[in-house]
Amino acid sequence: MKRALLGRTGITVNKEAFGALPVQRVGMAEAVKLLQKALDGGINFFDTARGYSDSEEKIGNALSHRRDEFILATKTPSKNAEGFWKDLETSLGKLKTDHIDIYQFHNPDFFPRPGDDTGLYEAMVQAKAQGKIRFIGITNHRLPLAKEAVESGLYDTLQFPFSYLSNEDEINLTRLCAEKNVGFIAMKALSGGLITDIDAAQAWMAQYANVVPIWGIQRASELEGLLGAAEKNSGLLPEHERRIETDRRELSGTFCRGCGYCMPCPAEIEINTCARMPLLLRRAPSARFLSPEWQKEMAKIEHCRHCGHCVKHCPYGLDTPGLLKKSYQDYQTFLREAPAAM
Ligand code: SF4
Ligand code: SF4
Repeated sequence: MKRALLGRTGITVNKEAFGALPVQRVGMAEAVKLLQKALDGGINFFDTARGYSDSEEKIGNALSHRRDEFILATKTPSKNAEGFWKDLETSLGKLKTDHIDIYQFHNPDFFPRPGDDTGLYEAMVQAKAQGKIRFIGITNHRLPLAKEAVESGLYDTLQFPFSYLSNEDEINLTRLCAEKNVGFIAMKALSGGLITDIDAAQAWMAQYANVVPIWGIQRASELEGLLGAAEKNSGLLPEHERRIETDRRELSGTFCRGCGYCMPCPAEIEINTCARMPLLLRRAPSARFLSPEWQKEMAKIEHCRHCGHCVKHCPYGLDTPGLLKKSYQDYQTFLREAPAAM
């Protein structure tokens, strides 16, 4: 497997890393097996978050006895120092470790800096002095904020959505990170499930030497697909380029990335799935989304209160209620045309 340097941290990891958000969705035994299989297969960087329910606990159970074999990153969503320390201690306990290699602020809507009155950055520095964390990172979905954080010189790593659907400004962000010697960790490398060709995705990503993608992995078959692509390491082939072009055409414009930052919704709409439903049905067909349970979920769209919460919080500036409405119309068409799948 290719290797990549995480900027000024000096940490070199195998290029394909493990994003542990999806392991929340599988049971403990299955997750432990999957995580161990990943480490055995050559993955040596695991990224999780305090906010991913039991993901940290699963990593702790699966890998803590082999702690010196991998780099570990997690995140705190805390907005103050008190919450920071509580999160850090909880994460260390769940992960069964005495240190976290990269500790990240989880998608804050400002970038913490010394003297900003939150005490967050000072807490990072103190945690580092205590040896509980090694490097300071930030994750974000907002391009202007991400740029500011990189340029501030305060952060060792940035985690940002990056895939072959990224635009030129986002690609330039990886260049800025290289210039500033900030490690670039790519989240949403499969754009929240909309990219389904792992070979093309891996080959495209391999072009960016300073980018470490954390692939969200939930199943052994997904892990095998990724390891297979990494082993082939074919480079970008004409067939990959054709696939990328098609996907860019189909997914151009405004589409929901599934990040969930617009939630919770007061009408209890699962926005991050409902707003992408037609794309999910078209690109990764699954009868599960046509089940009576999902029909009920989709019907909640009719009760949107137009409160504006989602619009205000969407980092992509989407007209979420409009997107949901269109999604529901398309969904009803799917239902009419695919009765056999129900
Ligand atoms: S505008 Fe509608 S979809 Fe958005 S948060 Fe409010 S109720 Fe939910
Ligand atoms: S509407 Fe925006 S914030 Fe909400 S899940 Fe989609 S991309 Fe994310």
